[in-house]
Amino acid sequence: MADAPRPPAASDPDPAPRYLVTARKYRPQTFGDVVGQAHVAQTLQNAIRLGRLAHAYLFSGPRGVGKTTAARILAKAVNCTTPLAEREDAEPCRTCDSCRAFEEGRSLNIIEVDAASNNKVEDIRELRETVRIPPQGAKKKIYILDEVHMLSASAFNALLKTLEEPPPYVLFIFATTEPHKVLPTILSRTQRFDFRRIAVPEIVGRLQAICAEEGVESDNEALMLLARKADGALRDALSLFDQAVSLVGTPLHAAPLREALGVVDIDLFFEATEQAKAGNRAGLLALVDRLVQRGYDLPEFLGGLAEHVRHLLVAVTTGSADLIEGTEAMQQRYLAATADWAEVDLLHLLMLVDDAEAHIKESRQPRLATELALLKMASLEPAADLHHLLAKLERLEATLASGALPKAADGGQRTVDSGHKTEAERPPSPAPSVATEPPASYQPAPPPSPAPEPPPTDAPGSPAASSDESDPGSGPEQDDPGESPMFSPEPPPRPTGETVAPAPAPTAPPPSAPSLFGAPALRRKGSSGDGAEGTPAATLTGGDGSAVGTPHLAAPPTTDDFGISLTRVSDAWPRLVAAVKADRVHVGSMLQLASPQRVSKGAVEVAVPDDFSRTLLTSETESVRTALAEVLKDEAPALRFVVRAGEAGETAAEVDPFERLKQLRQEHPVFRALFEKFGAEIVW
Ligand SMILES: [Zn+2]
Repeated sequence: MADAPRPPAASDPDPAPRYLVTARKYRPQTFGDVVGQAHVAQTLQNAIRLGRLAHAYLFSGPRGVGKTTAARILAKAVNCTTPLAEREDAEPCRTCDSCRAFEEGRSLNIIEVDAASNNKVEDIRELRETVRIPPQGAKKKIYILDEVHMLSASAFNALLKTLEEPPPYVLFIFATTEPHKVLPTILSRTQRFDFRRIAVPEIVGRLQAICAEEGVESDNEALMLLARKADGALRDALSLFDQAVSLVGTPLHAAPLREALGVVDIDLFFEATEQAKAGNRAGLLALVDRLVQRGYDLPEFLGGLAEHVRHLLVAVTTGSADLIEGTEAMQQRYLAATADWAEVDLLHLLMLVDDAEAHIKESRQPRLATELALLKMASLEPAADLHHLLAKLERLEATLASGALPKAADGGQRTVDSGHKTEAERPPSPAPSVATEPPASYQPAPPPSPAPEPPPTDAPGSPAASSDESDPGSGPEQDDPGESPMFSPEPPPRPTGETVAPAPAPTAPPPSAPSLFGAPALRRKGSSGDGAEGTPAATLTGGDGSAVGTPHLAAPPTTDDFGISLTRVSDAWPRLVAAVKADRVHVGSMLQLASPQRVSKGAVEVAVPDDFSRTLLTSETESVRTALAEVLKDEAPALRFVVRAGEAGETAAEVDPFERLKQLRQEHPVFRALFEKFGAEIVW
């Protein structure tokens, strides 16, 4: 055994110029040199110092993380003849006879047994015989049994005897990668230490030290590459390092190294996910072909792809790259890519790739398996469906709120909501939730039984993506570009008449209704008169509503039941205008002419001068809202742009979305499917 990571010591007992692989040459010789297992090293040092050594230890953990190395250091330290007081932290002195004898491989008191090849009961019996002989000129006789899980059952049992009543001078150190295969009776007689995978930065640090020692010039990315490929095993990293130096020579740079090691370039992974996202199957097949032509290992490619998707997922989920092991440039790249992905999509991709990776090893046709996996990825429907669906619903509600109902005209409809999140999100509002009510009870209800309701709360949005959770009901109608086709036949863009127009309610709500749904928060202000939310049909004409609408504008509440503060938004408006202007002048200019007016149905109504502004800003609702959230440094309330009453001469109706949705549910197959197949509930 040679030298520690320090410069070749004068005391080096092995001055032979023969080549030693790095992993052996730089094998740690003291606890202090052990990388990444400080928790183990510290405990063992304390045990030595305090004289509280167990008689058997079990070191478990993945391969190449330093179990055997630690066992050797422990053995050396235990038998070191230099007085403890003179040894710092109970480290082996490496100069006494005992230490040197062990390092030179001639110690009689430290016996290493490879249990994998000596796993028979006879071997253990033999070992037991030697255990009887006391150590020669040392404190302890130490047995290091590597791969102890390989012992046969009878060998284990033979060993058990010795473990139960070991002579006081014996110390057993077992090492295993598979502690679950070790008999419980053995486990219970040992003190167990779990060694962990070594983190990439720690491996990189070690490699840097070795590079400095060896005079090998290298760039950080190359070392990072080796460390990541080693997957937590320092020994693997050091072997790879040797391999890399032989293959690439020095200086060690990432690009040639990548090629030499057959590491798939990160660009290819990005290419794969981008093509998959675009549904470009041909591109993906071409990609596989390129991989094959270049001689890449396909299982390795899938493994790398899984890691890549995981990185994307981590970046999207956490919004940071801290959990991504890689260079800063790489982390930045993942962060930059987050905008393109929804968490759900990545989860699906990850499951797909993970599954493919698990099976490709058994596959006789790895290429086919890879292609299949990639094609499946490309065929994944964007899971954003749900978002789109919800966005659609919001649009629908908005449409309803504006009084323009696509097909269903008469009955009222309500918000469809899958409910769970709604409950949680609902701010303390007087509005009781009806979520618990079985949807069935609504089904038979005749269309014209609008009940007063609390403001719409939103459907479950995705935590990350949808910004419109506060309330879809009145929600901003957004254009979402990529909606699923299944919705296409559905509600036309809201009619131009959409303004603040309270609908005269032809269908007054039954008096009993309020008790069922609790105080109709939605209605509380201003709607006392209009009672029932108007039917959609009624609102289309907007004229009749103006009478009721005016009062709304006259006395804008500062906060609505959702706790959205109109004042906050109003105060923030100039900053919002400035922020948006900096980015997109035309939108900013229109916002400048707009002003938050009141809070209604959980959304802040923003009055704009004309229909053109309304249309444009409505299409920008999401981006404006995002900007608003940034300005507020908080979640932004939903926004609804309406034509200023004065200008338009119309006011929006307060429509009961619940009734509308109920109607839709009866008339639209898609909605019916939502209820029946997906268990959606009308929640208000
Ligand atoms: Zn010593």
